[in-house]
Amino acid sequence: MKKTALVCGAGGFIGGHLVKRLKNDGFWVRGVDIKEHEHAKTQADEFIVGDLRDQALVTTVLDRGFDEVYQLAADMGGAGYLFTGENDANVMHNSMQINLNVLDAGRRCGVKRLFYASSACVYPEYNQEDPDNPNCAEDTVYPANPDSEYGWEKLFSERLYMAFNRNYGMQCSVARYHNIYGLEGTWTGGKEKVPAALCRKVASAAPGSEIEVWGDGLQSRSFLFVDDCIEATVSLLRSDFQGPVNIGSEEMISINDLAKLIIEISGKDISINNVPGPEGVRGRNSDNRLIADKLDWQPRYTLREGIEKTFTWIQNQHLSLSK
Ligand code: NAD
Repeated sequence: MKKTALVCGAGGFIGGHLVKRLKNDGFWVRGVDIKEHEHAKTQADEFIVGDLRDQALVTTVLDRGFDEVYQLAADMGGAGYLFTGENDANVMHNSMQINLNVLDAGRRCGVKRLFYASSACVYPEYNQEDPDNPNCAEDTVYPANPDSEYGWEKLFSERLYMAFNRNYGMQCSVARYHNIYGLEGTWTGGKEKVPAALCRKVASAAPGSEIEVWGDGLQSRSFLFVDDCIEATVSLLRSDFQGPVNIGSEEMISINDLAKLIIEISGKDISINNVPGPEGVRGRNSDNRLIADKLDWQPRYTLREGIEKTFTWIQNQHLSLSK
């Protein structure tokens, strides 16, 4: 019999890629999301448009002991959405309700393995003040002090999944994603994250003009190409290791240098104008020692390779919109 999988958040960026991967692996896949995928036709065998905050809907969606369940649905966005403070109540309340519902229904219908997408935003601000030396080893998460309510919600939910493992014998695994980017993700509208936002700005800038970069641009991050993220996600769920574990890249770069890389790839003559804007922590990088040890995983794409593919896709999106 075919194995079965459920992807919560299948209409989103990472969820869309995950559905494709599970289909390639021969699974029967049900996707669920409050909206359909904006950039690609879903490959799920069944796609349910519904609100996972609704307990009745979640009970309907989790009507069997799926072999694999991936919980990626969340109220989230980039810095412009998460770090202004304007969306805090919704971000916390909406995502919390989804996680409570999925865990409760998953336990009752005997789900075998459940993956939860947490975030590098759980790490304390005090370890991310030096852009050259951030510390995001998994065991540095306490004493807790995430710099956003989004991070606090993720941290609480991580603990919730681990508590269900302890008390109900479930097999939930938790990954902390570090800035995932790639094709078929949000690139405009206010919820886009920095790689997509910069690709869009460069794609739409006239040669000889400038693009705006938030902050002084010296804040640092690492970025993981979505194909690598999917490989690590599936390997984690199918392993006996439950985490929490980082899924990210250790190739750290400043935001100004990321902008310069995209400008170079575009071949245009564009300059950078640093303007005030939401920035998040000063420095963040994935620490991959634990995942290398437990899953023997490391990213296959360099930042340049992933950004080249992403820029080309966003440029094409931009061109087809402006026709
Ligand atoms: P995304 O916003 O593209 O996907 C999330 C999906 O959840 C969206 O399609 C959204 O419609 C859906 N959703 C939100 N509320 C819902 C509801 N009430 N009912 C049903 N569906 C709902 O984001 P993504 O980048 O694909 O992220 C997937 C997961 O990974 C999220 O949990 C996110 O917090 C986590 N994460 C992502 C990153 C990243 O860099 N992309 C980094 C850290 C963690």
